[in-house]
Amino acid sequence: MVRAGPALWLLPTLRETDGPELTNALAVRWQANLIGRCRCGAIANVAQDADGMFHATWLHEADCPASDEALAELLEKTGRK
Ligand SMILES: [Zn+2]
Repeated sequence: MVRAGPALWLLPTLRETDGPELTNALAVRWQANLIGRCRCGAIANVAQDADGMFHATWLHEADCPASDEALAELLEKTGRK
């Protein structure tokens, strides 16, 4: 079943000091969230929690810059959390 309605994406913002690697990773992540498919092939797995909120989880390829692990590492390298 596909439902349409308002959506809220929580994504890290870009900063001038981010550098090309983090900027690229965030761009890949943003695009994946907007179209529902990452360029690594991962698709959004959307589930609803007990409060009625929908959450998307992704199973990115190990070398995908948009994975949670890759982004966390890049954010930490740049001093962001
Ligand atoms: Zn990916």
